[in-house]
Amino acid sequence: MATYVPARVTNVHHWSDKLFSFTTTREPSLRFENGQFIMVALEVDGRKLARAYSIASANYEEELEFYSIKVPNGPLTSRLQNIREGDTILLSSKPTGTLVLRDLRPGRRLFLLATGTGFAPFASVIKDPDVYERFEKVILVRGARQVRDLAYGDSVVARLGQDELIGNFVRSRLFDYPCVTREPFHHTGRITTLIESGQLYGDLGIERLDPAFDRVMICGGMGMLKDLRALLDRKGFQISPGIGEPGDYLVERAFVDS
Ligand SMILES: Cc1cc2nc3c(=O)[nH]c(=O)nc-3n(C[C@H](O)[C@H](O)[C@H](O)COP(=O)(O)OP(=O)(O)OC[C@H]3O[C@@H](n4cnc5c(N)ncnc54)[C@H](O)[C@@H]3O)c2cc1C
Repeated sequence: MATYVPARVTNVHHWSDKLFSFTTTREPSLRFENGQFIMVALEVDGRKLARAYSIASANYEEELEFYSIKVPNGPLTSRLQNIREGDTILLSSKPTGTLVLRDLRPGRRLFLLATGTGFAPFASVIKDPDVYERFEKVILVRGARQVRDLAYGDSVVARLGQDELIGNFVRSRLFDYPCVTREPFHHTGRITTLIESGQLYGDLGIERLDPAFDRVMICGGMGMLKDLRALLDRKGFQISPGIGEPGDYLVERAFVDS
């Protein structure tokens, strides 16, 4: 059974009627790798109601940050969306997950492909100085249905560009590519379509995906994961067989479909 420790909510920001982010205190003993997830829980009727959450802050930051959906009638998020500064939530003590840098073979470019709250682990990964030591270019593709759903990611990337520690790296090596599927925007379409049509490469002025020198992390819903896995497999990319076993690409579900 997982052990849970209390954490105090230090900030809550509602980005829309569907999305919010929040920060909490962090136990000094809590160690994690950028890209991992943890269980977030609330006590409901004397029982723990827990769900997996990617940690959106970096492992060197003092507080923990999370980026959350508000599922209508969702058991956890219909309650979690009402948390306020000063409230207490519960966090499991052992983060885990597949989206960790050490499970990627060496390469020249890192593609981070996310839809929806699947951006959360990459908010952590793009803050990691090791990412820029290991890769010459980091291409962050973050998809959403509507432009307003991109606001949290916009804010994370903008803040990072001003960061004292890695702002220089971010400005020169991070290629941010927000895209939407349901309304006009400068990049529209599903991520698979943007890759297959070549639009992504053309818009960014970069070479096509190549398993010889590219590495990829993917996080999103089941449909997106299935399509992108098939696309990468066709191109000859090898998935990491499991935690601790390096591959050309890594996959994590952003949620479990009902
Ligand atoms: C490894 C992992 C990491 C996760 N990280 C995050 C995260 O960082 N942020 C986050 O908001 N959620 C994340 N989730 C999903 C999260 O665990 C919960 O499902 C979510 O908080 C909703 O909880 P709920 O109890 O309200 O509804 P649930 O009963 O858990 O979900 C109800 C339904 O809502 C839909 N749904 C759930 N979560 C999402 C989502 N994030 N985006 C779109 N549709 C969704 C699904 O169709 C699901 O069947 C993650 C899930 C996994 C497996």
